[in-house]
Amino acid sequence: MDHFLYRDGELFAEDVPVAEIAAAVGTPFYCYSSATLTRHFQLFEEALAGLDHMVCYAMKAASNQAILTTLARLGAGMDVVSGGEYTRAKAAGVPGERIVFSGVGKTRDEMRMALEGGIRQFNVESEPEMAVLNEVALSLGLRAPITVRVNPDVDAKTHAKIATGKSENKFGIPIARAREVYAHAASLPGLEVIGIDVHIGSQLTDLAPFRMAYRKVAELTEALRADGHDIRRLDLGGGLGIPYARSNEAPPLPLAWGQVIREEVGHLGCEIEIEPGRLIAGNAGIMVSKVIYVKSGEGRDFLILDGAMNDLIRPAMYDAHHDIVPVVEPEAAVEMQPYDIVGPVCESGDTFAKQRLMPPVQAGDLVAFRSAGAYGAVMASEYNTRPLIPEVLVHEHQFAVIRARPSFDEILNRDTIPEWL
Ligand SMILES: *Cc1c(COP(=O)(O)O)cnc(C)c1O
Repeated sequence: MDHFLYRDGELFAEDVPVAEIAAAVGTPFYCYSSATLTRHFQLFEEALAGLDHMVCYAMKAASNQAILTTLARLGAGMDVVSGGEYTRAKAAGVPGERIVFSGVGKTRDEMRMALEGGIRQFNVESEPEMAVLNEVALSLGLRAPITVRVNPDVDAKTHAKIATGKSENKFGIPIARAREVYAHAASLPGLEVIGIDVHIGSQLTDLAPFRMAYRKVAELTEALRADGHDIRRLDLGGGLGIPYARSNEAPPLPLAWGQVIREEVGHLGCEIEIEPGRLIAGNAGIMVSKVIYVKSGEGRDFLILDGAMNDLIRPAMYDAHHDIVPVVEPEAAVEMQPYDIVGPVCESGDTFAKQRLMPPVQAGDLVAFRSAGAYGAVMASEYNTRPLIPEVLVHEHQFAVIRARPSFDEILNRDTIPEWL
């Protein structure tokens, strides 16, 4: 569910016409709905109601400070994967005890930053990382609270680039070696073992892989407790998928995911942590773009937009589908036409959709990419020296630019020409 609906023949973001935002900030731009962000966060709270739990938003999905502040005010924790994200979380007012640090390549500097600034736990992904974290914590006279990320060797049945729970993936330690690794962790005086972490991938549209992974985590919890470890927190990751195409069957809702969690690990008396990213931000954002040209090619028509792969890379990188809709609501009876929808970047991969059926479109028309809130703006680049596009946040009838489009001067001024040149 989201708050981007047609009203009086045009697309609105909550109570603001999208065309009005386009006129004010220019295209292309990202637009987020604070009502949708709030609603999605609350769905996870409701899904785990009655369990001792914390929802830690995986901020890599969309990390603008205004988005983080919106979620932080609702009581969200944050899942961070870099020193930069840790800094963002703190700046958004999230206390250290609500921040978990994930990622396979944490550096000493990042560990030090989190230990000094406060951290809920590190999700440790390897034994070399464990050894380094132990050293850093001891050097500060501290003990680092940790879970170990286990790789349950479960097929998440998602795109290969976002599957993380198979044994060939770089993430976590093989679950078969977990008891040995936990014994090692417990012997290190700079670490305090508090729980287990698992995250098997992103955009999962079936609950079965979650259930399989969580069952393995439950078995491991019992085994580790028998070994004498005080396992009291389970971080069950994120990964619940969203409906990218309105015409497809919708993936399971957070409530159903929560039910799987209750059934598989609810009896263990552990505090439950989850790290949803995509489901909170994905349908809370659209990317709005303008048609520059309609070009007739060999047997096909191209819609050439002012948005491109550098602004939204998901179609090029993951073959992802985004529904693309005109901002002016089409007449119900209109005949649809196939278009190849592309951007201006000098790569054939700069293609958003091939032979996509759309109502007839003309140069100057605005279109909106739905479900662009997650892994959209955060993955943008300035390839082709195309400025990072602005981000806008809507709240009821108000909107504000939450990241401005840089000028060409600002972009050029980031470069330096050495004196000796
Ligand atoms: C990316 C990631 C998430 C969030 O995944 P979504 O599919 O966006 O919900 C959660 N935890 C970890 C460790 C991640 O890497």
